[in-house]
Amino acid sequence: MDIAIRNGLLVTSDRVVAADLGITDGRIEAIVAPGGALKAQRTLDAAGLHLLPGLVDAHVHLREPGLVHKEGFAAGTRAALAGGVTTVMVMPTDDPLTFTARQFEDKRALAEGQAWADFMLQAAIGAQACHVEELVEAGAVSFELFLADVSPALLVPDAESLLLALHRVAAAGSVAGITPGDHDVVSKRTAAIRAGSDGRWQDFPPTRPPVSEALGIARACVAARESGARVHVRQVSCAAGAQVLAALRSSARISAEVTPHNLLLDEDELGRQGANAKVAPPLRPASDVLSMQQALRDRVIDIVATDHAPHLPAEKAAGAGDIWKAPGGIPGLQTFLPTMLILVRQGLLGLPDLVRSCCSGPAQLFGLAGRKGELCIGADADIVFVDMARSWHIRDDDQLSKARYTPFAGRVVQGVPVRVLLRGREVMRDGALLGEPLGRFLRPARS
Ligand SMILES: [Zn+2]
Repeated sequence: MDIAIRNGLLVTSDRVVAADLGITDGRIEAIVAPGGALKAQRTLDAAGLHLLPGLVDAHVHLREPGLVHKEGFAAGTRAALAGGVTTVMVMPTDDPLTFTARQFEDKRALAEGQAWADFMLQAAIGAQACHVEELVEAGAVSFELFLADVSPALLVPDAESLLLALHRVAAAGSVAGITPGDHDVVSKRTAAIRAGSDGRWQDFPPTRPPVSEALGIARACVAARESGARVHVRQVSCAAGAQVLAALRSSARISAEVTPHNLLLDEDELGRQGANAKVAPPLRPASDVLSMQQALRDRVIDIVATDHAPHLPAEKAAGAGDIWKAPGGIPGLQTFLPTMLILVRQGLLGLPDLVRSCCSGPAQLFGLAGRKGELCIGADADIVFVDMARSWHIRDDDQLSKARYTPFAGRVVQGVPVRVLLRGREVMRDGALLGEPLGRFLRPARS
């Protein structure tokens, strides 16, 4: 073995167990009882520490190409590793959008050499859905469809376009990520509310009401059933959305995600933090936050993903006093594991639930089963060492994203990620990143 990890507490999706790990060529080669026979060139002592699989974030915006003033592969994936996220799936919403195989390959080439975490790339789908097969060939992990709240180039304009796209995705054996919503509701309510608004923060959430999300989820589920496509519903945020999902998900091949901010922050944060807490879907009333926690526990929602969507401090500051002037979107990569540890501390999740919803679950949904998200024989040795005995405060000053703040600043976290391995290489220790960008492009296994 190259490395032996001794005396740790291994966290899987169903239990926590004392074990020693052996790593060879970046993969886990042995899991033995504590003190068992493992010969290795180097030994890491994990006494008193929990060992989690590196987190797999299925929804991030890294703003490259074209918007690197906001983030970029380097800054975004450094933030990821600092927070224990070793694999990211990157949305196609940059400039240019990722519509063609050429754009996909250009984006992959941009990321290679810059990415500190392993990465997959998601594809956009145009009105004619004509590039699906070539994008699958290039290694796209999913095709992203937006039913509302997006630029005209990305908007799926009607039900027939949605069905066409899903038929193509199904035929190619891929997955459609659907961001739900109802374009008519959002655009008409936004116009009506803005016309009489003086820019107060309270005017923003009603432009994306729960009924918009619920209508979008219903449409996604019905279209998934009709087309036979595998559909992943993005960022469910409210009880109305979760209820529709619970009623319809068994009728088709559906999975769903929720963000850490919709699990932990309510709409009063808009009053406290102003535009820094502006995001779509918006932060909801406290009752919806509780409903999201319950939906995750009940497995109506399968996974947690951050929707990391940073903007510069100056861009957010433009919304001081006028909420309409700031862009929507908040950073989440670096705080992914810490925010989940807050839910663990509150007794809402166990550590195995955290692994299921943030590591093995997303890996299984997106073609990485057995490679990422689990500490098992043959998997990549992406490992986060967590000291559950220590607590700390989340601070803006520690954030590596170009957003330079977090909506979770001040929150107390029980559990410190003290060391991160990526394919057996130590890439983070005590909050400091080590070495150089080692991130690799990952293709999904064809199902
Ligand atoms: Zn997003």
